[in-house]
Amino acid sequence: MKEIRVRFAPSPTGALHIGGVRTALYNYLLARQHNGTMILRIEDTDQGRFVPGAEEYILQSLAWAGITIDEGVGVGGPHAPYRQSERKHLYQQYAQKLVADGNAYYAFDTEVEIAAMRKASPNAQYDTATRLQMKNSLTLSATEVEQKLAAGEKYVIRLQVPANQEVTLNDLIRGEVTFNSSQLDDKVLMKSDGMPTYHLANVVDDYLMKISHVIRGEEWLPSAPLHVLLYRFLGWENDMPQFAHLPLLLKPDGNGKLSKRAADQMGFPIFPLTWKDPATGEVAKGFKETGYLPEALINFLAFLGWNPGTEQEIFSMDELIKAFSMERINKAGAKFDIQKAQWYNQQYIKAASNEALADRLLNESGFMATLENAVKIVSIMKERVTFPQEIWEQGKFFFTAPTTFDQTVVSKKWNDEVEKTLAAFKEALTKEGTLNAISAKQILESVTASLNIGTGKIMQPLRVALTGNASGPDLMITMEILGKDEVIRRLGYALGAIQVNKS
Ligand code: GLU
Repeated sequence: MKEIRVRFAPSPTGALHIGGVRTALYNYLLARQHNGTMILRIEDTDQGRFVPGAEEYILQSLAWAGITIDEGVGVGGPHAPYRQSERKHLYQQYAQKLVADGNAYYAFDTEVEIAAMRKASPNAQYDTATRLQMKNSLTLSATEVEQKLAAGEKYVIRLQVPANQEVTLNDLIRGEVTFNSSQLDDKVLMKSDGMPTYHLANVVDDYLMKISHVIRGEEWLPSAPLHVLLYRFLGWENDMPQFAHLPLLLKPDGNGKLSKRAADQMGFPIFPLTWKDPATGEVAKGFKETGYLPEALINFLAFLGWNPGTEQEIFSMDELIKAFSMERINKAGAKFDIQKAQWYNQQYIKAASNEALADRLLNESGFMATLENAVKIVSIMKERVTFPQEIWEQGKFFFTAPTTFDQTVVSKKWNDEVEKTLAAFKEALTKEGTLNAISAKQILESVTASLNIGTGKIMQPLRVALTGNASGPDLMITMEILGKDEVIRRLGYALGAIQVNKS
């Protein structure tokens, strides 16, 4: 089998959309599965759409997601440079060959002339139907063309699409897809600034970089027949890569494409990392900063359009590499079910090492704790949260004593008997050595037994006294983490502060 060489080929026109991460992931999985090569090529020939910082953002996003690159921008490799703007000199010769062979032509039309052609009839485009009314090397004499070129007049080179031909490509996901060439327009291949367009640069580079599979989003399917024509005209048909156009990502309800606007409205991220638009200053929070773990996001993205054919849902990157197959990618659009993404995050947080989460707590929360306590806190809180920062948001009481107390519990469950029991518990604690979860339970049980009150009546008021909240993680471990002195102090404060219901 031919060596598997795939490329992720983003344009640095802004932040990388989450769909781009999925495209990169599928390329990566195929490459790794076959000991192939994953290439990162930056397609920056459209200077007008270049956004500063976008390339770095793409590199950082892939690194965060764990998608490693073998060849390309930031890494180098045998086909360097991998940034198309630095490969400018390469494309001209292919455009010239296409012109010389009668498969492309010079066009000298001004913007005004093109606009007039488009206005003349509603669906007009520069194609087999209109090109003979335009100012190009098909309609001008050879001498006129030479004069214009010699005079340095502005021109573009356009593909000369043949009329009424069937152009077929074999898509690995969609099967045979056939287009009639009359639907295609004579796409510009070389622009007047001397830069190639996406179509020419993309095909030339895929050929020169020996790409075996082009895996990209469905939005590129309409361009594929043009690319097939280019391979044919350049005599590269036998080296044409296999195409796979990935299903669209849809809004969670399946109604239309997942857009940034839709994600904003529904309050979830669309970019892997936080992105500040350099033009508007607008900041869009990323998956990372929202609290998604990269492994969880990757697992979720892998299932957007692919499934393993089994019940298994949790896959590490290595497991994905083994299980992935192009045959199991769907044609139908994939709903971006953000609740599923959250479910994945919960699963990965539960499975995450306490040390790693404790590390984050100490670095990100701004709270002070010993490593030992931080580990204990995350170990009892991680079952309860979707995002790591919720551990310290919901576990704030570990670090600061409550000054307000859940009113519902206070009014329903706080009474003289409870106060008496808590005071006795506090008293009993002072006589103890160090407090741990087991001794806390024993002391509480002996106090409640001696006062003849069910522990059920005391647990929630005790929690409210210590944490301010009606619910939370295991109370005995909570007391162990707080430590004897702090538990006594908080009980003392609560007993003074909470109004007794004199019934
Ligand atoms: N530069 C294109 C993009 O931004 C690449 C499409 C392709 O993979 O051919 O998505």
